[in-house]
Amino acid sequence: MSTVWDIDEWVEEAAWSPIKRFYPTAVTKNVELPINLVFEHLLKLTEQSKLSLFWEIRCPCCYYTVSPAEGEKFDSGDMLVCPKGHEFELSNENLFPIFEVNSGYRQYIREKKKSPFQGIIRKKLIPAT
Ligand SMILES: [Zn+2]
Repeated sequence: MSTVWDIDEWVEEAAWSPIKRFYPTAVTKNVELPINLVFEHLLKLTEQSKLSLFWEIRCPCCYYTVSPAEGEKFDSGDMLVCPKGHEFELSNENLFPIFEVNSGYRQYIREKKKSPFQGIIRKKLIPAT
């Protein structure tokens, strides 16, 4: 069984990789924890400014993403039209959380990974056999 620290590890790897945005379900593919626990932990990481949370609107018919135009805001109950022309009412069921790795955190992880100082610490931590 995984622990919430595995989520931290996953996010750290994501920050180091070309991944910029990810769904909580991407984490559950590698971390064996219930989705609500993963989501809660990811929310904590947004409080720590490591991640940002966005909501993606998806058409219930074709799952195409509906992106608001700049400055445009949607409210629950609004009628929306997807890129394929399906009309639907905006509700919680059409909203999907997506997390973005903040650039500041991404930079911090990159610096940390290439710092020779880290390498020295790691070497010291390897137990002698
Ligand atoms: Zn559609």
